[in-house]
Amino acid sequence: MPAWWEVLAWAVVNRTRDVCSWEGETLPSESVPDVPVRARLAERLKRRHRHSRQEALLELTNRLAPAGSPDDLFLDWEGARSLVQRRFDIGSHTMFHSILSSEPAEEQRRDLADSRHQLEEELCTPVRILAYPNGLPGDYDETTISMARSAGYAYALTTERGINRRTTPRYEVKRFMVDPSAGLTAIKGVVKAVFSGR
Ligand SMILES: [Zn+2]
Repeated sequence: MPAWWEVLAWAVVNRTRDVCSWEGETLPSESVPDVPVRARLAERLKRRHRHSRQEALLELTNRLAPAGSPDDLFLDWEGARSLVQRRFDIGSHTMFHSILSSEPAEEQRRDLADSRHQLEEELCTPVRILAYPNGLPGDYDETTISMARSAGYAYALTTERGINRRTTPRYEVKRFMVDPSAGLTAIKGVVKAVFSGR
């Protein structure tokens, strides 16, 4: 399933039609820049149930009439297999990228288990790491953690910045994000900031 926020970005960037507004939100046009509008639209769509989000995305895409196809936005199975061959660890980021804590327990269970099985089956490699969609406190909860454990994940990553110690809970692993275009100096800066507790 293509990641909805990437499809949204693709539709906005490749639009052949300028649409003035959607659900009271101004859409990008020649005078309104893409990026902040995209961020606002994504924020609106993020917390919806996936069916209503899919509907909204379809409507937006129809109205913006983007050129081309969103199929090339993501790595395919073959690309993912080549990562496995290069000894990358593969983890799950769920099937639907829903905010898990707002989904019923049964849907969380199914999403976590199915995504893991599908990855293991296609890639013939153990999948033991999960990254929660959005990953901030409140985006996952105790139910999510227990579903992740019973689905067979050994660890789960949040998007909270920081280093991990022996006492860090296994299903609340912290990390820091580095923009690949920022280069090594930026990585050094982030590491220094993290270690000095800022
Ligand atoms: Zn994500």
